[in-house]
Amino acid sequence: MPRPIVAHIHLAAMQHNLARAKACAPGAKAWGVVKANAYGHGLERGMRGFAAADGLALIEPDNAVRLRELGWTKPILLLEGWFDSADLLAMAEHDIEGSVHCVEQLEMLERTPLARPINVHLKMNTGMNRLGFRPSDYAAVHARLRAIPHVGSITLMTHFANADELHHPCMPLAEQVRRFNAGAAGLPGARSLCNSAGILHMPELGDSLATDWIRPGIMLYGGTPGGKSAEEFGLKPTMTLTSELIGVQEIGPGDYVGYGSRFKAEQAMRIGVVACGYADGYPRHAPVDTPILVDGVRTRLVGRVSMDMLTVDLSNVPNARVGSKVVLWGEGMPIDEVATAAGTIGYELMCALAPRVAVVEA
Ligand SMILES: *Cc1c(COP(=O)(O)O)cnc(C)c1O
Repeated sequence: MPRPIVAHIHLAAMQHNLARAKACAPGAKAWGVVKANAYGHGLERGMRGFAAADGLALIEPDNAVRLRELGWTKPILLLEGWFDSADLLAMAEHDIEGSVHCVEQLEMLERTPLARPINVHLKMNTGMNRLGFRPSDYAAVHARLRAIPHVGSITLMTHFANADELHHPCMPLAEQVRRFNAGAAGLPGARSLCNSAGILHMPELGDSLATDWIRPGIMLYGGTPGGKSAEEFGLKPTMTLTSELIGVQEIGPGDYVGYGSRFKAEQAMRIGVVACGYADGYPRHAPVDTPILVDGVRTRLVGRVSMDMLTVDLSNVPNARVGSKVVLWGEGMPIDEVATAAGTIGYELMCALAPRVAVVEA
């Protein structure tokens, strides 16, 4: 029998969440972001779950080609563009679009003749200071792109640093929008603006975020980008990680649990041993009290997470025994709560799901 740990992927929830993203931005087209193996859900499952998206966006050139091989016929976008000229040739061959964010990429494009034009997404750095051209250089780069015969359409694109906190004291969203509008003034082309956080704020922000394309990622997977909980945003979990108890220990006051003897029992209690560890993608740094469901009852992690196992407090689940069902995250146990307890974000937990975990579609 395989280990009892299973990741259940909910395709209907993926469809629901995509519809939710589109409803926030009526009239805009949506890229379903499927980078990082569709945030740990599997590229091919991402393709099926987001079949209604207007395009799929990702980072990995080999996986972009793979999407074509899997039969995806709508647009595909490489969010970081090309890394070398071989990528450009593959993009032209497979009709894959890409963002251009630095002068080195621009020069590569200028000196790599392509049999077919590719559509590019010109990225502006509006304050994130990660990728993109400065607003003051933007129009000049746009003109250079226009002069390249093998460039098709040019989409105007930027990325927000703080769309989860609109009035961020350092870089408010409105300031990034202002810089974008200034840098893109007078330039033709579709606009591509929002990640999940921006999309979820569109209804309240109205016209200031008017865009032709949105780029939802985490919200499609039922995770919150911040602000409110996923449930409050109307999102459904798309990945439920379940396992079982494979052992139970009765311990007394003064007994310690796990590596480093980090947890000490104050009174007699039962400890459940769950078949899930950091080699499955559960965060090793999750501290005591990280929430977890056993037999549908919310309880807590105790002791250190080890490679293949973790230990839980069964004090409030007296009937739990070997074989009892455990939910690490997903339906009934919001991934964002687990992530917050562990000092990280739901994105990281999903992406870290390990290849050894069996995946079933539900
Ligand atoms: C990953 C990514 C997104 C999606 O971000 P979420 O926060 O997951 O919605 C959108 N745009 C770009 C450029 C990205 O790299």
